[in-house]
Amino acid sequence: MGRIEVSNLRKVFDAGGNDLVAVDDLDFTIEDGEFLVLVGPSGCGKSTTLRCISGLETPTSGEIVLDGENVTRAKPKDRNMAMVFQNYALYPHMTARENMSFGLKMTTDLSNEEIDERVENVAEMTGIERNLDQKPGELSGGQQQRVALGRAIVRDPEVFLMDEPLSNLDAKLRSEMRTELQNLQNDFGVTTIYVTHDQTEAMTMGDRIAILDDGELQQIGTPLECYHTPVNKFVAGFIGSPSMNFLDVTLNDETLVHEEFTYGLSVETAKSLETDETEYVLGIRPEDIEVVSADTPNAIEATVNVVEPLGDVAHVNINLGNQSYTASINGTPRWESGRKIQVKFPEESLHLFVADSGEAVK
Ligand code: ATP
Repeated sequence: MGRIEVSNLRKVFDAGGNDLVAVDDLDFTIEDGEFLVLVGPSGCGKSTTLRCISGLETPTSGEIVLDGENVTRAKPKDRNMAMVFQNYALYPHMTARENMSFGLKMTTDLSNEEIDERVENVAEMTGIERNLDQKPGELSGGQQQRVALGRAIVRDPEVFLMDEPLSNLDAKLRSEMRTELQNLQNDFGVTTIYVTHDQTEAMTMGDRIAILDDGELQQIGTPLECYHTPVNKFVAGFIGSPSMNFLDVTLNDETLVHEEFTYGLSVETAKSLETDETEYVLGIRPEDIEVVSADTPNAIEATVNVVEPLGDVAHVNINLGNQSYTASINGTPRWESGRKIQVKFPEESLHLFVADSGEAVK
């Protein structure tokens, strides 16, 4: 079991005599066995949330319930959760084996043989069986991270809490470890809360992702829900790479009026907006921009700035007036800078946000 309910969680720090609200009224539930990623920009309150769940930080108010038991004030050691940190937090004077067995020796009455057997099994799973007698200083970053993971796994916890565990690894190793971590989590089925500021990590790893900004939960859902139906402009801009393009528009009957173009909405879409607002931000993902011929309805003339070929696609930086945007175009278009092209924002891919609040209306 490992179901966690976080209710009205709030954490206020004293920052030089002023209140700093790090986490504000957070509510969410993580089901047993689920992999939840907490994601958001630096300083949005991810680590504080995780530390409150682990017991390393005491919430100012709110509750944390683990399998029906209120653990808000319980000590970390009484929560049966194992934490994995960004900097591994291994004891430098101990071998990998000692690092992994230390917690078990302190908190269980398992015999040395039983502990050894468990450590060796886990070392095999995490691919460090040959490194067990080495100290952290003799191990690569990836190996140290595996030891840190192994140390969490041997404890057989109900919950894994991971705070940016891969961020000290190079890009290739990070992507390998992502897959390994997911496989391990699938094999063990242990509830996992994983903190990252990297939206790619969130999109690829989480069963669900919780997106935070400024201490507040913006949206929680599957990665694809958050990608396709962001609740607001913040989520829309945060999830997806390259980021969604945003253009200021005014709604005039069924027409969106931009400085450089007008865009005729279908009657159904215009009716479905159900707001009295006139000022909106139009959002379009780079991969949804189409290059079309000039006689296509709603075609917009753009000027090519730079083409960045990536192999299968190219990121094309285009100008509409004096603003620049990114389009992902299949293949490698051989366009020189300054070339005029016609682009289209297909209506089904269009997002609209109320300019003032950022709330999504389409
Ligand atoms: P990062 O990705 O940079 O680690 P984060 O989203 O994990 O950021 P937190 O570490 O939770 O963010 O910090 C949230 C806010 O709380 C920040 O403004 C931070 O400066 C503040 N904060 C965190 N810990 C403390 C503390 N012990 N005392 C005072 N302020 C703190």
